[in-house]
Amino acid sequence: MSESLIRSDIDLEVDGKQTGYLRLPHSVHRSANGQILIPAVMVRSGNGPTALLIAGNHGDEYEAQIALSKLCREVDKGDIRGRLIILTMANFPAAQAGTRTSPIDDGNLNRTFPGDPLGTPTQMIAHYIEEVLLPKCDYFFDFHSGGSSLYYPPTLLRGMGNSAHEREELIKLQDAFDAPYAWVFTSGGGRETKARTAMGGAGRKGVITLMAELGGGGTVSKEILALTERGIRRMLHSIGMLPGYEADAMNGTRELTITDSVIAYDNGLFEPFYDVEDVVKKGDSAGQIHFPEEPWREPKVLDFQHGGMVLCKRVPGRVERGDCLFQVGSDL
Ligand SMILES: [Zn+2]
Repeated sequence: MSESLIRSDIDLEVDGKQTGYLRLPHSVHRSANGQILIPAVMVRSGNGPTALLIAGNHGDEYEAQIALSKLCREVDKGDIRGRLIILTMANFPAAQAGTRTSPIDDGNLNRTFPGDPLGTPTQMIAHYIEEVLLPKCDYFFDFHSGGSSLYYPPTLLRGMGNSAHEREELIKLQDAFDAPYAWVFTSGGGRETKARTAMGGAGRKGVITLMAELGGGGTVSKEILALTERGIRRMLHSIGMLPGYEADAMNGTRELTITDSVIAYDNGLFEPFYDVEDVVKKGDSAGQIHFPEEPWREPKVLDFQHGGMVLCKRVPGRVERGDCLFQVGSDL
């Protein structure tokens, strides 16, 4: 495997707080020796675990980009035990554009792992995270939302764990983050995973890893941002990295697994009959797709194939064949 061409301003082996950039060489017409500057912050003090926290894996998912920016400004060497590494805009070109994928190479970072050190910018970022950063980590937290097209209530995502110890750690972190919901993957997530996600990359490196879906719809929710900031501090506290933080009482998390996805088979305008957190039964009509181009045509009604709670809903009204309209979760 070739070495990464990305150069970091941060020396991960030195105690203290460092801010700077991962510098990705990017030579283009308007800038022959240009660089993509991916912001990075490290706070290291004494003995303790290493945790990598990233936001902006998808560029149109905002709460954690703000929450991690606040954390970067607020924590100092004296607050931390161990090594905290933060990337607020992991796929920087996508995050700067406010789009899911990179406008430079159309790369979806979270479908690009394990990446390629000599590939496109998105492939180079994936490779750097998997091969340079993750091997140094004990914990990896990858914060998402539904992006521009989907909305999730605050939901933690985790696997079942590869061992009793890992499962215990995951549940401890889930309790610490204290989102109202957890989406638990009941398959995959093993060490041999071929997953193209950052979570898959962390699994390959034996790192304890969690994701979260925190709202979406291309906006920022005041409530979800507050929950995200609280959850991140509680998680760091639970692994001993923020010893001075005083965690408040836990609200509790409902564990779900996804049992149904409602997909569009027509292009048109979707009228949903349900919202997130609604309870639905098998056979209930989920909504209908209208065809205003032919207003005399009957809308196409779509049904839920399994009952449960609506965990995810499409945001834009205009839908195309193949779009995901709803996901339904059932209690684990
Ligand atoms: Zn995402």
